[in-house]
This record gives sequence, structure tokens and C-alpha cells, in this order.
Amino acid sequence: MLFSGKLNKLRTLALGMVFIGVIVMYIGYAAFAGFLGSWFASNAIIMTFFLIVGFLCVMGSTVMYMWLGIVSTKATQVYCPSCGKVTKVVGMKDECMFCKQLLSLDPADAPENRHHT
Ligand SMILES: [Zn+2]
Repeated sequence: MLFSGKLNKLRTLALGMVFIGVIVMYIGYAAFAGFLGSWFASNAIIMTFFLIVGFLCVMGSTVMYMWLGIVSTKATQVYCPSCGKVTKVVGMKDECMFCKQLLSLDPADAPENRHHT
């Protein structure tokens, strides 16, 4: 997986999950209130279902944020050779947070090892 590149993308995903969760919960409420047609109106089972799904999305996102925080503190800090800023590398390969330069900690990717001697 190629992902602070990775961290940024997961953060966006976690943020998206919050919005999805809120929207799903709102749909549940709207259905119960009769905004989506009389067929769903006052249907407590559908509303409960949507509320639970929405709640799980928000909770999942919260857990993801916590996990990202932990991963972020463990990530290797490096100077990006491309833009000179300090970025974080998650795993062996990652993108620079600022310029999307692909960075690698894998010795096999080091320039001196590229010669097949
Ligand atoms: Zn950079």
C-alpha cells in the first residue's frame, strides 16, 4: 500500500466517514419524519437501522483518527529531498506530505544499490 501521503489520505477518508455517518443518520430521521414518503414514515425499525449504521460510521471514524494519531507518532521523520520539508514516512514507502514525492526507506531502493554489480 502506498500511503504522510498515506496519513493524509486516511485522514480524508476518516473525515468522509463522519459526513457519511451524519448523512445516514439524517436520512433515518428524515424517513421517520415522512420526508421520504409515507411508506417509511413512522417506521421505527428503519430509523433505528439508519441511526445505528450512521453511529457506527462516526465511531469507526473516531477509532480511525485515534489509530492515525498512534501511527503518526511512530512514523519515521525524514527530510524530503524534493522540497526540503520534514515529512513522515509510514511503512517502507510513502509519498511526501507536501509535494507527493515518492520516498522509500527500503535499502533496495537506495541509489548505490541500483548498480547491478
Ligand atoms: Zn516533498
